[in-house]
Amino acid sequence: MADEVSKLTKDFKKVWSNCLEIIRDNVDGQNFQTWFVPIIPIGIEKTTLILQLPSHMFYEWLEEHYINLLKKVIKKEIGNTGKLQYRVVMEKKNAPTDSQTINLPSNPRHAVSNPAISVPIELYKTGSKELPAPFVVPGIKKHKIPSNLVETYNFDNYVEGDCNRLARTAGWAIAQDPGGTSFNPLFIYSDVGLGKTHLAHAIGLQTKMNFPNKTVSYINADTFSQQYIEAYKTQNRNDFILYYQSIDVLIIDDVQYLGYGHKASTQEAFFHIFNHLHLKKKQIIITSDKSPVDITGFEARLLSRFKWGLTVELTPPDFDTRIKILHKKLESNGITFPDEVITYLALRITSNIRELEGAMIAILAQASLNHRPVTVELAKEMIDKYVKSTAKEISVEYIQKIVGEYFGVPVEKINANKRDREIVQPRQICMFFAKKYTKLPLATIGTHCGGRDHATVLHACRTISNLYETDKKMKIYVDEIDKKMKI
Ligand code: ADP
Ligand code: MG
Repeated sequence: MADEVSKLTKDFKKVWSNCLEIIRDNVDGQNFQTWFVPIIPIGIEKTTLILQLPSHMFYEWLEEHYINLLKKVIKKEIGNTGKLQYRVVMEKKNAPTDSQTINLPSNPRHAVSNPAISVPIELYKTGSKELPAPFVVPGIKKHKIPSNLVETYNFDNYVEGDCNRLARTAGWAIAQDPGGTSFNPLFIYSDVGLGKTHLAHAIGLQTKMNFPNKTVSYINADTFSQQYIEAYKTQNRNDFILYYQSIDVLIIDDVQYLGYGHKASTQEAFFHIFNHLHLKKKQIIITSDKSPVDITGFEARLLSRFKWGLTVELTPPDFDTRIKILHKKLESNGITFPDEVITYLALRITSNIRELEGAMIAILAQASLNHRPVTVELAKEMIDKYVKSTAKEISVEYIQKIVGEYFGVPVEKINANKRDREIVQPRQICMFFAKKYTKLPLATIGTHCGGRDHATVLHACRTISNLYETDKKMKIYVDEIDKKMKI
């Protein structure tokens, strides 16, 4: 008996170490260290391998970034019926270590379901692809169109800020009256990691909450295009179009990927779908990495339709919003970080919310794995290792913090509209570094530094540059601050 148990123990460890071998060949070294080394295999039940993860966010990260890889290796090592079960050790403040079980790869995310609708459509799985493609079978049948909505991407979790206020408000209005507002289509664009996908889901979820009987469907333009090609090959093009025309709220994410490889034909199909939905006052929500004016490779008639409703950009969140987002993410995972770590993250990662979240998860993973306290030093290490340099641009707030600390003056004073003598120079140094390290226009730098205009900023930068050449003390100040800034 004891032998059997120990054999089993050995087996599941072996299974996982085999999996790791394959994973190691498929992800880069740092990601392997961060996301796979901390996983502890704890058992196997029939064909289900049980793994322990350090946190819920860790699980979400794996699910979002590595689910396909995990499915593949599990299939290879355990066979077609192979499954994963995750146990998450949740670390809650004032709570004993808790464990939660999540089954994978069945359907880890809760699906908001649509009502069955009478269209001559059958959904079935296409070969090895997991995603259902739309096809017709003879006769009218009631079928459910998948909503593909992710419940955690809701409005409650979507922090409002100047960066997203217009888009959020328009989205909320749409959810109260889908297809009935003048925001049709709603076209949301931004750089990567700024909340397009989250907001698109939130609108869909809120619509479902208000109108459970409406059919809402979220689809990435890439998946949409794959489905189209499949339908085209099997001569089901018309059915494909019919399928999408039967939806009440259609959300197309990352429209820049529409028709990748078969652009003209896919765009043509989308054009028909779009026209039909719009005519029938059905809601269309589109996201993109560029504004309709800047998108290339699209037919003019489609681009002009994108502009029929409301086009709105999501911009990088300001410092306060970044802080709120971090609080929200931590809170929804039942975790706390010391305030100075939250501030540090929000100061260092300014242009990409996904990276902000990624850094937070990496810190958490390290802290759990090595039983290290969550400190600014750990945060620094993780940011340097894992955050892309574009995301950790130096922000004006960060510059002000470093300069303020260096001269022992509070940041509020640097920001205030007062001309106290002891503040003048630190403020000028802030402007000097802001010009050097941020891409902000001079006028914006001035606004951040006590409401100065662009001429004042220019004057400040010249003054500091001149002093740097002529005044030994100033050279020391600037060099030392510069060094601190780069740590
Ligand atoms: P995009 O689609 O623009 O690349 P995502 O919607 O995937 O960006 O957002 C990246 C991450 O940032 C997601 O985890 C999302 O939940 C989070 N996020 C973005 N905006 C907000 C916000 N306003 N409040 C809370 N989380 C946000
Ligand atoms: Mg997205």
